[in-house]
Amino acid sequence: MATTTIVGDVVAQIGGDLIDLSVLLPVGTDPHSFTPTPQDVAKLSDADLIFANGAGLESFLTPLIESAGAAERVVYLSDPLELLKSSAADEHDSTLGDPHTWTDPKNVMVWVQTIADELSRLDPAGAEKFQANAVTYTLELQALDDWIRQQVAQIPEARRQIVTDHLLFGYYVAAYGFKQVGAVVPGYSTLSEPSAQELAALEDAIKSLNVPAIFVGNTVNPSLSERVAGDTGMKLVYVYTGSLSDPGGEAATYLDYMRYNTRAFVEALAPTP
Ligand SMILES: [Zn+2]
Repeated sequence: MATTTIVGDVVAQIGGDLIDLSVLLPVGTDPHSFTPTPQDVAKLSDADLIFANGAGLESFLTPLIESAGAAERVVYLSDPLELLKSSAADEHDSTLGDPHTWTDPKNVMVWVQTIADELSRLDPAGAEKFQANAVTYTLELQALDDWIRQQVAQIPEARRQIVTDHLLFGYYVAAYGFKQVGAVVPGYSTLSEPSAQELAALEDAIKSLNVPAIFVGNTVNPSLSERVAGDTGMKLVYVYTGSLSDPGGEAATYLDYMRYNTRAFVEALAPTP
């Protein structure tokens, strides 16, 4: 099993047809606020391995894993990574750091090796295939990273300023030379609420820096972001955040998700020729 659709896609790339994979969170679900059903607990009890993002993203998971008696079968993919921390987010979350590690493909390369190793441990007969899939997919992640760099180069450095619904592109921002000007919810989770003062400060920052767009995720209620956009004259640009799109959609895989979001950033921030 995998928790989110993003974790699920990466696990599928490595496991291929040697594994029987189910993904816990439906498409479009916010991982921060997901509430599992008794059927979900039953599914977790039956799983041989459970891959989770970890780093506090899936706050529903700890009690669920306990009641399913599944603690030894859970692999937290972000455990080996050093998490970003910001003092602004600390005021809102009691988290370990920024859990959205997948927004930098270099972090997903670490996930891939963990997935290949864990699947090989479970099924030694498939080890050669899992490791070969990991090599192939890592090359695709490297190509994705190169492509993002080329795309982002179209945005002059001074314009690489982003405002998002919550702080979820931290690793992307750090990897590709952006600056996070602010977030409607200035925390790593969608669960907290901004104060009136924080919203006013955000609107002031947006106006003084002349930021053109707010990037809003597919898994949150956009009403607060709409209000900030209305007050400041910014454009609302929809991106994919905690979930991939439907299987037939424009961000159905992790690679497509990253390409979709990068195109959205470039389109909103690059000067028009
Ligand atoms: Zn998030």
